[in-house]
Amino acid sequence: MSERAAPFYCPYCGDEDLRPGEEGPGAWECGACNRGFRLKFLGLLARGVERPDTGGDRI
Ligand SMILES: [Zn+2]
Repeated sequence: MSERAAPFYCPYCGDEDLRPGEEGPGAWECGACNRGFRLKFLGLLARGVERPDTGGDRI
């Protein structure tokens, strides 16, 4: 699961006319506003994965 993230909307103008960029993996180009940007996965966040119902064998 790397470099597979695909944006649905341009983060700058909100258009859906996105295509993979030519500058390597993670690069995208917007055909509406003519901007290029890069999408990068930073890793899983350490917080926010705790579940209050884990750690017990009830039932
Ligand atoms: Zn755009």
